[in-house]
Amino acid sequence: MGLISSHHADAYFEGGEPGGADWSHLHPRTEWFHVRELDPGVHVISEPGHVNSYLIQGTELAVLVDTGLGVANIRSVAESLTGQPLQVINSHYHFDHSGGNRLFGDIAIHEAGKALLERPAPDGLAPGYMKYVERLLDAWQDYKDADDVFFHLLSAERMVRPLPEDFNPDDYKIVPTVATRTLVDNEVIDLGGRQLRVLHTPGHSPDSICLLDESNGLLFGGDTINTGPIYAQLEDSDLEDFASSTARLAELADSVRRVFVCHFMRLDNPASLLREVAEGFDAIVHGDVEYRDNVDCLDFPVKEACFDNFSVFVNGGSGSLRV
Ligand SMILES: [Zn+2]
Repeated sequence: MGLISSHHADAYFEGGEPGGADWSHLHPRTEWFHVRELDPGVHVISEPGHVNSYLIQGTELAVLVDTGLGVANIRSVAESLTGQPLQVINSHYHFDHSGGNRLFGDIAIHEAGKALLERPAPDGLAPGYMKYVERLLDAWQDYKDADDVFFHLLSAERMVRPLPEDFNPDDYKIVPTVATRTLVDNEVIDLGGRQLRVLHTPGHSPDSICLLDESNGLLFGGDTINTGPIYAQLEDSDLEDFASSTARLAELADSVRRVFVCHFMRLDNPASLLREVAEGFDAIVHGDVEYRDNVDCLDFPVKEACFDNFSVFVNGGSGSLRV
C-alpha cells in the first residue's frame, strides 16, 4: 500500500501544476511518431493508438507503406531513416492511411483506389476523428494508471501521445490526393535486393492490398488483417470479398514469418493470425457467430464478432459509414 500511496502523492501533489493534474506520467512520450526497426531494413513509423505505417528499404528504393493521419510530418521521419528515393504505396485510400500523401511526389495505390483517393472526404469525418482523439486521450488517463499498478503491458511504442503542440485539431482536414501510379494484383515492385508483391485483398475497401516480401517472409496486412476490430462495417466493405481475400492470405501462412498490421498496439504477429482471420470470416459469412453491440471510432453503432486475437465489426443495421 505504501508504494501506491506515494505514487499517488507524486502524481497528484508534488509534481502537480497549480490548479490541474500533472499528466507527465500519462504521456511520458511526447514525440508523435514512434519508430522502431522490426526486421533488417524494415521500420515501423507508428502513431500509437491510431495507425502504423512501414518503411521498407531495398538497395535502390525505399517504399513507405501508408502516410498516416497527416497531423505531423511523416516525410521528414522517413527521410531521416533512408537516403533512397521514396515511393509511397497506400494500402488503401482511407484518410488514416493517406493523410500525409500531400507531402510526397510519388504515390501508388491499387487501380480501384485511384478515383477514391481523389474524392473529397464526407463532411464531418475530420472533426469526427478529432473527437475520437479526445475520447482516446480521456480514456488513457485511467488506462495508464491501472497499467502502472496492475498490468504492465505498456511499452514505449504503446504509449498514446498528446497531439503535436503545433497542430490544431480544429484545423484538421482530409485532403484528396492524386496517385502518380496504379497497382494491379500480383505486380512485383523491385526495391533492389528486395521485392514486394502486391496482393489485391478487397473486403475492407475495394482497393485494399497487402504487400508480401516473399524472400524475407514478411506480410504487410493493410486493414485486411488487424489485431483489434477489423472494420467490415463500412459503406464500401464487403463480407464475401473479405472471406475470399483472407482465405487467400491463409494459404500463405506456411511461407510467412511475420505479419505486420496497420492498427492497434499488437502490430507484429505470427503467420497463424492469417488462418485465424480467415476462419473468422468464414464463420461470419456462414452465419456461425454471435455478435455483441459496440461502437466504432466514429461512435457509430456496430455489431462485433469476437475471436481470440481480433474481432470483426459488421454493419449494426442502422446504415453504414462512408470514410
Ligand atoms: Zn481503412
